[in-house]
Amino acid sequence: MRIKNWGIFGFVAGYHLLLIALFPFYIAHFSWSSLVLMLITFSLAGISITAGYHRLFSHKSYEANPFYEWVVLITSTLAIQASALRWSNDHRLHHSFVDTDKDPYSIKKGFWYAHILWLFDFNEPINPRIVGDLLKNPRVMFQDKYYGWLTLAVNAAVFGIGCLFMHPWAALVGGVILRVFAIQHCTWLINSLAHTWGAKTYSQELSAVDNAVLAFFTFGEGYHNYHHAIANDYRNGVRWYQFDPTKWLIWTASKIGLTKNLRSINKIRVQQTLVSKDKELFLKRISKEFDETAAQLRHKLEELSAAFEEKAGALTNKLKELKEATAERRKLLILEVRQLQKELHILWKSWISLSQFTVKKYSIAY
Ligand SMILES: [Zn+2]
Ligand SMILES: [Zn+2]
Repeated sequence: MRIKNWGIFGFVAGYHLLLIALFPFYIAHFSWSSLVLMLITFSLAGISITAGYHRLFSHKSYEANPFYEWVVLITSTLAIQASALRWSNDHRLHHSFVDTDKDPYSIKKGFWYAHILWLFDFNEPINPRIVGDLLKNPRVMFQDKYYGWLTLAVNAAVFGIGCLFMHPWAALVGGVILRVFAIQHCTWLINSLAHTWGAKTYSQELSAVDNAVLAFFTFGEGYHNYHHAIANDYRNGVRWYQFDPTKWLIWTASKIGLTKNLRSINKIRVQQTLVSKDKELFLKRISKEFDETAAQLRHKLEELSAAFEEKAGALTNKLKELKEATAERRKLLILEVRQLQKELHILWKSWISLSQFTVKKYSIAY
């Protein structure tokens, strides 16, 4: 690979080397306050990237008022991941062309390419057709225009504040360099590890996976299989027990009027969409197979997806009925809903194992 973006390469390689060179000074002047400073700035950087750059600007999965936008546009400079405009442009390309040559950080080009090397290689200009909406947002445009100065000012301010409480070496390494290193690698792991190692809970045909460990370090972004399947949901971890602090923050902000129109897709609809998408894909991929297994598989795919569709429809209707039911009728309806939910869950599990079998059996490349 030939390096095209020398500026980015210089910055990334430079701070890695600086970190190695200065680490002994950090250890020598270590204080717990430097760790606290690192954790605070790491969290601010991380959450502004996930809630701001990713779910707000790239995917428009909710709306936010100008104050909220300013906060995330400023704090995101702690992550030094380019302007929101540039980031959203590349990320929208990633979703539209995932796993193809047009995907800026395609995992097909290898783990390290998706993780970091693409930064030195991908240099297509921002496409107004892709980010036309953001070009009309004056706050996003201001951040893009003055990105370098803002980044410098915010990081210098962190260093300055740090110096009040700790040795300058601890403030520089802990508060700035180590934090930039940590947050950048965590974000990059979404492009590399979350397209490599984990479970395909929802969509079988994409390389994206769900990885709970990664979700812990990335403020909920580890549920990447769901995210690629349903990208405009403001949540990535859709189950109540899944660690997704970004979703909790967006939801809490909506309660105090900072955000609104949160888009969330109902679980039954999500599964219905995925079953029909996966079915189409599998039937297409095995259309040239004429052995006995393929014939049986075709039959099974049709049969199971039809059963799923029917049960999902019945459950949706029953839930509608429940909303309008009288107190007396509710008791009975709740029992019926629970039964249907159980049956649908069994069908969903069968669908998942049938999909996994199909993918393995016919080495379906995704
Ligand atoms: Zn992805
Ligand atoms: Zn995304």
